[in-house]
Amino acid sequence: LLRVSGLKKSYGPAEVLKGISFDLKKGETLSLIGPSGSGKSTCLRCLNFLEKPQAGEVLLGTERIGQRPDRKGGWRLMSDTEMAPQRREIGMVFQLFYLWPHLTVRDNVALASIKAAGMRRDEAHALAEEMLEKVHLRHKADAYPEQLSGGQQQRVAIARTLAQKPQLILFDEPTSALDPELVGEVLGVIRELAEEGRSMILVTHEIRFARDVADRVIFMEGGHIVEEGPAAQVINQPRMERTRSFLGQVG
Ligand code: ATP
Ligand code: MG
Repeated sequence: LLRVSGLKKSYGPAEVLKGISFDLKKGETLSLIGPSGSGKSTCLRCLNFLEKPQAGEVLLGTERIGQRPDRKGGWRLMSDTEMAPQRREIGMVFQLFYLWPHLTVRDNVALASIKAAGMRRDEAHALAEEMLEKVHLRHKADAYPEQLSGGQQQRVAIARTLAQKPQLILFDEPTSALDPELVGEVLGVIRELAEEGRSMILVTHEIRFARDVADRVIFMEGGHIVEEGPAAQVINQPRMERTRSFLGQVG
């Protein structure tokens, strides 16, 4: 489904991604782990060209993300308008949920279907309720975000992403802004999505969750992929010393 090759990204002199390549099969959950500053978020953001990598390519199916052939046989960056349909194919869930405070939960989930996909309002609302059901919050459709716990708000944000019907969902530390007692309900929803066979990439510090739910794990450090393999192998029997010492520190 996804093929990433040779992604490089620098901010000024600082090279943050030093050539990242990996594949994701349809239906697979991949977890990206690594120390703070290793480039995990940058990598996710380069996949849908929220950040523009200086080198490398991202293929979703046969479609090249963020770049179009130019007349000279090379590639040029697409504009944000050109990229909009591709961005809908790659959903993203962040640490903070960014819900609209003045809109109900239902409207928060339906908004993009109406505005970006041009869906009829009643259809968009029906879809929103179906997606809220998946995150077990249909009964909160009429509530406003401030009436919900952080865990519930994050589940609404997940429903909003699902309503976009993306082929691939990227999660960037979706539980790290939550109180500990709310982490479980969000991880539970992500686990159900994995079991449903969604294609997902999850950046997380929840190592045990990554081991139990992800099919594969990539350990990144310093802008490189240090180790990659089946989740249980990378986490229980890492081959690289660097991976071992990182896992030792995070417990
Ligand atoms: P964390 O676990 O703390 O979220 P991370 O692995 O997601 O870390 P990134 O956020 O990708 O790491 O950052 C990697 C490096 O790139 C860091 O050194 C960071 O300071 C730098 N960086 C990230 N974004 C920018 C930016 N917009 N401008 C300059 N430097 C940046
Ligand atoms: Mg990050």
